[in-house]
Amino acid sequence: MLLSVIVPLYNEEEIVEKTFLTLEEELKNIEHQIIFVNDGSKDRTREILEQLLQKTPYNELVNFSRNFGHQAAFSAGLQHAKGEAVVIIDGDLQDPPSLIHEMLAKWQEGYQVVYAQRHKRRGESLFKRFSAFCFYRIIHSLTNIEIPPDTGDFRLMDRVVVDQLNSLPERSRFLRGLVCWVGFKKTGILYDRAERTAGVSKYPLRKMIRLAIDGITGFSTTPLKISFLIGVLATIIAFGVFIWSILEKILFPETTVPGWASLMTAIVFFGGIQLISIGILGEYIGRIYDEVKQRPLYIEDKK
Ligand code: UDP
Ligand code: MG
Repeated sequence: MLLSVIVPLYNEEEIVEKTFLTLEEELKNIEHQIIFVNDGSKDRTREILEQLLQKTPYNELVNFSRNFGHQAAFSAGLQHAKGEAVVIIDGDLQDPPSLIHEMLAKWQEGYQVVYAQRHKRRGESLFKRFSAFCFYRIIHSLTNIEIPPDTGDFRLMDRVVVDQLNSLPERSRFLRGLVCWVGFKKTGILYDRAERTAGVSKYPLRKMIRLAIDGITGFSTTPLKISFLIGVLATIIAFGVFIWSILEKILFPETTVPGWASLMTAIVFFGGIQLISIGILGEYIGRIYDEVKQRPLYIEDKK
């Protein structure tokens, strides 16, 4: 049984060595290959890794030509992984490698996806915790796939799941969502997320927002349909204004400003019609979008 472990790294020269040693120590009784994906680091990450890997030729290093991002690094790792089980883990030891044994135990029980669910987050700012909290809830309410709350990318996947992920051609890859989308038998393990061992987070707000947008737009066309709902609402209001203006004319003929009623009705009415039209376009664009992603219609569980 071969286990592949994918570790994305971006400017992690302070910790790569420790990460490497910890993982090797943790996995010494398991046949494994660690795939380090160097996501275009500008520091000495690459040199350090090349040095470290000389003694362990079964491990692999994938170097990106520039920073393509965390999710791209996973995709590269998944393409290179040969194991029957594949673990994805952050390179800053925030995800405890000791949890891999528990994941393997669950995998042997027959689960094809074992994700680690964050119970506590240490050493992360209130803002990061709050934004993460909101993110998982928003995505849950906008999409119809069940992304378990508070799970990061730290997880174990069976070969069948990895093959399915590799066969998806779509470009903006939000892995957490895709793993849920492909299905199969899943379970979670609770853990306390540790502090970063060294260095600072490589996820500035800009990248976090990008990830959130990818996650939402990749799995939901609800935002495209919002204008339809607003349009219907505006049209209903226009009808109300129309009725009221007629009543006003009849009930208080002296105080009504001439032209006000017809003007207001026209503005709200046409606003509504326009929004509804945009909503209809959105409906079609959503369908085109679904087609372009070329996800299979269904996935069979052949086990
Ligand atoms: N990372 C990466 N490319 C990036 C940003 C981050 O490969 O563009 C790696 C990083 O080196 C780390 C992992 O992804 O191993 C998680 O990043 P980080 O710890 O900065 O995220 P956080 O834990 O703060 O969410
Ligand atoms: Mg981290």
